[in-house]
Order: sequence, then C-alpha cells, then structure tokens
Amino acid sequence: METADCVVIGAGVIGLAVARALALAGREVIVLEAEDCIGSGISSRNSEVIHAGIYYPAGSLKARFCVAGREQLYAYCIERGVAFDRCGKLIVATEQHDEAGVMRATTALEDYLEHRGVQVNSIMAMSTERAEGEAFFGAIIFLLLVMALMLAIVGGLGLMGTMSINVLERTREIGVLRAIGAPNKGVARVFIREGIAIGLISWLFGAMLAYPLGKGLSDAVGLAVMGIPLNFSYSIIGLWVWLVPVVILSAVASFIPARNASRLTVREVLAYE
Ligand SMILES: Cc1cc2nc3c(=O)[nH]c(=O)nc-3n(C[C@H](O)[C@H](O)[C@H](O)COP(=O)(O)OP(=O)(O)OC[C@H]3O[C@@H](n4cnc5c(N)ncnc54)[C@H](O)[C@@H]3O)c2cc1C
Repeated sequence: METADCVVIGAGVIGLAVARALALAGREVIVLEAEDCIGSGISSRNSEVIHAGIYYPAGSLKARFCVAGREQLYAYCIERGVAFDRCGKLIVATEQHDEAGVMRATTALEDYLEHRGVQVNSIMAMSTERAEGEAFFGAIIFLLLVMALMLAIVGGLGLMGTMSINVLERTREIGVLRAIGAPNKGVARVFIREGIAIGLISWLFGAMLAYPLGKGLSDAVGLAVMGIPLNFSYSIIGLWVWLVPVVILSAVASFIPARNASRLTVREVLAYE
C-alpha cells in the first residue's frame, strides 16, 4: 500500500497551495483530484481579479488575509515572471440606482477618465454584476421548481393509486353507506376529503424536511459554484403558497377513485368477495 505524510484532496488553487507549502516544509504529499486534470474546478472559472480586500469589514481575518495574500501573490508573480496588470480599482457611489441612472454615471465616468488620458479596461456596475448572478441562480431555481413540480405530479399519481386501493379495500364500508341511503356525492366527498388529508400530512412533513434539506442544498450549490455557502432563508410565504397546489393536486388525484366509489351500486357491493 502506498503511504505518504500528507494527502491533500482537491487540486484547485487552495489544495495545490497547501500541497506546495507542505512539500516545501519537507513533507511527502499526495494530491488527489477527482477530475482528469488539476485546477479544473472553480479555480479555472474565476474573474482573475487580485482582490484589494476592501469589501471585508476592517480588521477582520478576511480583510487581513486578503491584503497579505495579495502582496504575497504579487511577489510570487514577480519572482516567477508571471504577467499581471496592477490596474487599480475605482469604486463610485451614485445617488441614482435605476438602470438608466447607473448607465449615465458609467458613461460619464468613462468619458471623464478617457479625456484625462486614463485607459479604461472595464467598467462594471454592481447592478450588472448582481444581475449576472441573479440570472445564473434564477436558472438553478427554475430547474429546482420544475423538479419540485415533477415530484408533486409523481406524488399525485402515487396518491391516486393509493386512493384506488383504498376504495377497493373499503367496498363493504361503501356498501353499508349505500344501504343507509348515502348519496353519490356524499360517498365521493368522503374519499376526496381523505385524499386532501393525506396531501396535508405530506405538506406538513415536507415543511419540516424543507429546512434541513434546503439548507444543505443551498450550502452545496454555494460551495460548488462560488466556493462559499449561500445565505439561506426559509420562506414562510413560499410554504403557504405551496399549500395551494398540494390541496388542488390531492383533490384532483382523489377525484377518479372517489367517482368510482360513488358509482358502486348495492348489487356490486354485495357481489364483492
Ligand atoms: C464566478 C467566480 C468568480 C471569482 N472571481 C475571483 C476573482 O476574481 N479573484 C479571486 O481571488 N477569487 C475569485 N473567485 C473565488 C476563487 O476562484 C475560489 O475561491 C477558488 O478558486 C477556490 O479554490 P479551491 O481550490 O478551494 O476550489 P476548486 O478550484 O473548486 O478546487 C477544488 C478541487 O477539488 C476537487 N474535488 C472536490 N471533491 C473532491 C473529492 N472528493 N476527491 C477529489 N477531488 C475533489 C474538484 O474537482 C476541484 O478540482 C471567484 C469565484 C467564482 C465562482
């Protein structure tokens, strides 16, 4: 069996930096990577910005590490002859936040800088950056909603099967109801109410499981895409909104079994073995 002092899992920028530091400290290191080549995860998809550290709370570990890491990265690039552009960053706060106002401010800033001989590489409004992020996550949310809807339909079909068996198993009970003069609608109502009750119980279980599952999914998507867990919030409004399709779907799923139950005649019930 192969042995080593240390095993680093994941050959992204972090894993490789850790492995390098361990190797430089004289340890024997093995780097394990799930993909075919190194750096094929988030590390190969970032915007290539060497961050200034201005977005983090002053004095926080994030701010301090970012600033220290920035200087180490510049030093490393100079030492190894890796090209970089220390172009600086200008952050402008505007009073108007609508799209047209931001566009006007962007164009005015670009003109101002270019008239003074400053070469502008790119101007990116935070709203544009946010819109790009929202479009990306919007697509993920849409896919999740489609999956939820498909699961709801599969659940509805399952409920329809369960209610059909329910009707079959309770043929004698339906016969008793019929014998004491229960009308067709009355018999159907019993089964539709039961179907809705099962739907409500499933909604209740779903509501309880939604928090841990949603949090886990949100963390996993954040870590996979951005390298950090996303901010998770549990929508109470969403929970109540979801109740409406659950009730409708449960009623629709129990409709055919309920109609079959209401059509059973006393003669059919007596003939049932
Ligand atoms: C859109 C975007 C833009 C960004 N822009 C910038 C920027 O401009 N500047 C900046 O400094 N940072 C930026 N970042 C952040 C930066 O890119 C990441 O923080 C960094 O690349 C994370 O590196 P990592 O090694 O932790 O992850 P990764 O690069 O994802 O590496 C993890 C590796 O582990 C492997 N792996 C996972 N599980 C296993 C397993 N079980 N077994 C074996 N291998 C496994 C994966 O295949 C992957 O290769 C950006 C991030 C994003 C998403």
